[in-house]
Amino acid sequence: MSKRFTSARHEYIDDLITRAEGDFCLVCYFERGIRRRDIHRKDGTIRKRIILEHADNDPSNNALGVDGNVHHVCRSCNKKLESLKIRDKVKKIRGYSVLLEREREREFTYLERRTERRSKL
Ligand SMILES: [Zn+2]
Repeated sequence: MSKRFTSARHEYIDDLITRAEGDFCLVCYFERGIRRRDIHRKDGTIRKRIILEHADNDPSNNALGVDGNVHHVCRSCNKKLESLKIRDKVKKIRGYSVLLEREREREFTYLERRTERRSKL
C-alpha cells in the first residue's frame, strides 16, 4: 500500500466519521462536555485537534459506527487511552459511542416530531 493511498483513505475515513459522529473528541465530549473542534487558521489551513482512534490498536480495522473500531478523539485523550489495556479501551470507547448514538437518536426524534407538527398546521 503506497503512502499516498493510505493518506487518501485516512482522509476518507476521517470525513465519514465527521459526518456520522461529528468533528469532536468522543471522550472529552462525554467526560467534560467539550466539543473540541479543529482550528481553522486564517490562511485556510486546518490544524487537526482530533485524530482517528482505533480502539483495538489495529490501524487496518476501520469498521465504522456504534460497534465500529474507529472514532475521533483528541491527542490528549489518545495519550490517556494508550495507557489502558486494549480490552478496557475498546469497552470505554464503545460505551461513549453508544451514548453518542442515543443522543443522535433523541435529536433525530425531536426534529422529526417538530416537522410532523409543522406539517399538520
Ligand atoms: Zn479528548
